[in-house]
Amino acid sequence: MRMLGAACTSQIPSRYQQPPAAITTSYKASVVLLEKVLACPVLLMLGPSTQRSPDASFTVQLVSLLAPPHLPLSRHSLHTVAHGILPVLYQSFLAVRRDRRWRRRAERQRCQSHQQQGVKCSQAGCEALPGLVPREAKPQTSLGAGALICAMLSLKLPRLLSINQVPKGYQEQGILFGYRPPRSSAADCLLSVFQMTNETLNIWTHFVPAWYFVWTLVGRLRGPGGREDPHSWPLLAYLLTCCIYPLASSCAHTFSTMSTRTRHICYFFDYAALSMYSLGSALAYSAYIFPAEWVNSTFHHCYIPIAVFNTVVSTSLSCYSRFLEVEWPRFSKASRTLAFVYPYLFDSIPLFYRFYLCAAESCTEAAILVHYKHTIFAFLTCFIFASHLPERLAPGHFDYIGHSHQVFHVCGIIGTHFQMEAIMMDMAERHNRLLPTSLLPSSLQTLGSMGICMAVSLAVIGLCSMSLSFMPEPLHREKPHGH
Ligand SMILES: [Zn+2]
Repeated sequence: MRMLGAACTSQIPSRYQQPPAAITTSYKASVVLLEKVLACPVLLMLGPSTQRSPDASFTVQLVSLLAPPHLPLSRHSLHTVAHGILPVLYQSFLAVRRDRRWRRRAERQRCQSHQQQGVKCSQAGCEALPGLVPREAKPQTSLGAGALICAMLSLKLPRLLSINQVPKGYQEQGILFGYRPPRSSAADCLLSVFQMTNETLNIWTHFVPAWYFVWTLVGRLRGPGGREDPHSWPLLAYLLTCCIYPLASSCAHTFSTMSTRTRHICYFFDYAALSMYSLGSALAYSAYIFPAEWVNSTFHHCYIPIAVFNTVVSTSLSCYSRFLEVEWPRFSKASRTLAFVYPYLFDSIPLFYRFYLCAAESCTEAAILVHYKHTIFAFLTCFIFASHLPERLAPGHFDYIGHSHQVFHVCGIIGTHFQMEAIMMDMAERHNRLLPTSLLPSSLQTLGSMGICMAVSLAVIGLCSMSLSFMPEPLHREKPHGH
């Protein structure tokens, strides 16, 4: 059996394998190790060396860039790392693009040589004609330097597939390459987080911001007021939903290739978490951003119960939309978009009224400007989700970086950040006016509404999961769709 560690270190420059004579202390050796560790995730994103273009010299260059020769490692280690990271990121971006082009060219050449053997070719790659055995995924024989971490874990990087090699239910509009195998193990799914696939940035664009919101929530819990202050309960509930929805999304994207059933269940949880976020927003809006004229009105009293109802309907409709994907993909997409848009529009009614007041009369509230920013990003998020831009215009050009789902995640997170900032500004302003706490949602109302929605959402997920066996088989659909 081949030594995987040896395969990895064989592509690392010799000066790393044997540190220069000047570097003798353990501190200096640890700097070398640190730089190796920094280099490997970048190389890992490029995939195994057998799938990379023959121009593999950039692999060595990438590692070399981490320690420019004019900067001695022993004296300027931090400076070296700072100088190295930016070129590495830029080089990795170029390398991924170059590698993708090379793979498409290789795929076309392979198709042309096999066309006589009954293999149908298209822009996206090759597909065995009915009756022929499809091409087998060959095991990796050489993992290359980028697989150092994998070698340490004794795991192999899975081979990526083209759109024609995955079932229709896994296909995304405008994304031609970079699909993970549809029946991956949980370990493969976890490992793929560090491999450059068409899901990698979907995972990270929600995983990293989730911890930013966790950090904000913990800061609020530990800070003055915290849990003891009834005034802050709606904010804490809102922040909790801000943590849950990106975490649920990144988990869904990570494990969605375990099986068709797991994929559906993963996205059921993703949708339920998004619906809970709409309730969290409603709780915070009810407590802090309602216009003064509407406070204690009938609409204010009905606002949270309607938001609870909306959350249940939103979860149910979005989960149900997955059952429509096979027969009516456009209707499915429209109903899923509606499921998330209409609770947002309802939640925003008090906000829109404040915008109207601001436009009709002059207003000096600083929070309004931040609310505007949040609203712009919310509409941008919706537009990107519904339009599948930019990959719709240039299929295959945004497979790994820049496709609509990544932009959708980023816009959503930026929108949530502005929403959180605006809510906190309104909360501080309202707190200074010392509104009676009787006008705020009580902790029981906050916890009760969250508990009801969570229980009903779990029941809906359970019901939909049990109904999956009645779902039509997606293998014979014509057009790909998004999730
Ligand atoms: Zn997503």
